[in-house]
Amino acid sequence: MSVVQPLLGLQEIDSRIREMQQEIRDIPQRQAQEQERLKGAREALERAQAEMKSAQLRVNEAELEVQARREKIQGLKKNQVLLKTNKEFQIYNLEIAKLEGEIDNHEARQVAAMDGLIPVKHRLAEAEAKLKEEQEVVDSYVDELNGRLAAVNEALAAVEAERAEAVKGVDPKALLYYERLRTKRWPVVVTLQQDGVCNGCHLVQPPSVGQMVRRKQGLVPCQMCGRILYGIE
Ligand SMILES: [Zn+2]
Repeated sequence: MSVVQPLLGLQEIDSRIREMQQEIRDIPQRQAQEQERLKGAREALERAQAEMKSAQLRVNEAELEVQARREKIQGLKKNQVLLKTNKEFQIYNLEIAKLEGEIDNHEARQVAAMDGLIPVKHRLAEAEAKLKEEQEVVDSYVDELNGRLAAVNEALAAVEAERAEAVKGVDPKALLYYERLRTKRWPVVVTLQQDGVCNGCHLVQPPSVGQMVRRKQGLVPCQMCGRILYGIE
């Protein structure tokens, strides 16, 4: 039996392992990319929240202005009864009237500010709904990827067990060579083309290499890249 054949079997298993490992590495990145997609909706919500805050602030401010003047009027009225002259009484009345006029203005401002709240509330609700909707899509995809990750990890464990079996059928020296090269060059075992070119690095091999490959004389490495060469039957 050729030295190469069991190595090709091992390489096929390793190629599946590499794909699985790649997928395992990629999944967290894909999940992060998904989360990134929510950025726009999150920012829109933050803007709507800020808008809501300042709209609410305008309402509160007007309210405080009204309240302050009402308290002032109450104080004036309390002192008014203690006044001695009619003139002083009139001055207080004027001051109260002035404050009441200001209250009217601030109340009107408050009403307008409350009207202004309505579209802002609407935009906020919309932004919340949009984010929730997008979050659900992302969550479900992230869940799906988690499921996929678990499945790949399980499959990987099975293939690794398969590999442990396959290794037993490989010539120890060939295995050592293969394992050393595996981390640097992939694939390790490649065909020597009919025209004598290594299918890994594309260097033309001397005729002697072709002869050894055809005769299946043990392990025949490429003169340039060191990959193990084999011929197509
Ligand atoms: Zn080569």
